[in-house]
Amino acid sequence: QRIGNLLSCSRDMPTPALSFEFIPPRTEPMEQRLWQCIRRLAPLSPHFVSVTYGAGGSTQASTYATVLRLRRETDLVPAAHLTCVGATREEVDAVARRYWEAGVKHIVALRGDPPAGAVGYTPHPGGYAYASDLVPGLRRIADFDISVAAYPETHPAALSPEADLDNLKRKLDAGATRAITQYFFDASTCLRFLERCQSAGITAPIIPGIMPVSNYEHVARFSTLCGVTVPVWLTRLFEDTDGNLELRRIVASIVAVEQIRTLQTNGINEFHISTLNRADPTFAIAHILGLRTTGRCMSDNVADYSEQEETT
Ligand code: FAD
Repeated sequence: QRIGNLLSCSRDMPTPALSFEFIPPRTEPMEQRLWQCIRRLAPLSPHFVSVTYGAGGSTQASTYATVLRLRRETDLVPAAHLTCVGATREEVDAVARRYWEAGVKHIVALRGDPPAGAVGYTPHPGGYAYASDLVPGLRRIADFDISVAAYPETHPAALSPEADLDNLKRKLDAGATRAITQYFFDASTCLRFLERCQSAGITAPIIPGIMPVSNYEHVARFSTLCGVTVPVWLTRLFEDTDGNLELRRIVASIVAVEQIRTLQTNGINEFHISTLNRADPTFAIAHILGLRTTGRCMSDNVADYSEQEETT
């Protein structure tokens, strides 16, 4: 029944706009893997591609280097994630200025998480306290295109769902152009959230974040930390899949496509996919959704990539 829905939807649906998220590499082999992934996905002409910022700014140099290389060596539009936790305003501003001067105009502006082991979040005394402070700070520097984070299931540290929605509104009112959501598994969770945004008078685009899950155990643990519900049906789909990476990837792609198709039937047509630097699931998802390659910068070494992928 589910597959039937997916295929019948595919006949009438418009091709959605996709953007992709990459993780900055920490080692040379990871860097090679990332660039094989980028070369494979680039011909799908994503709307933009973003590069995350390690917890507490720990990957600052690698994020910066990756974003600049994207700008230099591809015709993709790069977006740099930038967090303000644990840094002074001057430090954050300096990073933002370097991006602007290098022609990088899209920032994903985030507060970031407190370091592991910290009890709660304490703003840096000389820093931007929240993302809603960072957004106007970036605006003062240059006319950045700014994305911010949104939480369909409410950020775990928010005082209430209403306070969290007010916070989102503050970030958009301060000059952010769009929000990208935390991932979720039940499309209905996202739809209810979008309705709440609409009722709160939010008109900026809210782009659903899609996480194709092949390492179920890792994602289940991570989801507990960031307040994302892992539905029983997802757990059941990954039963008896230990060690069968190919099966897990097929499951991951089907789940993601079904999420996206359900949202498309409700009029949503733009999605941000966390690639986790693995090309195959994202490529399969994009293909089923109707995206085709444009022939630009295809990898000369795509086959090797699949064999090298780690088992996460
Ligand atoms: P904020 O919008 O500042 O909100 C943080 C919390 O504070 C919320 O609970 C909010 O309700 C509350 N709050 C806001 N203002 C106030 C106030 N004035 N008083 C009291 N409470 C307030 N993390 C990384 O480290 N690197 C990344 O690259 C990264 N990318 C992400 C991309 C997306 C799409 C998403 C959804 C998250 C990402 N994160 C990343 C995680 C993010 O940094 C954490 O979720 C972090 O805890 C919150 O960041 P934020 O920008 O949403 O914070």
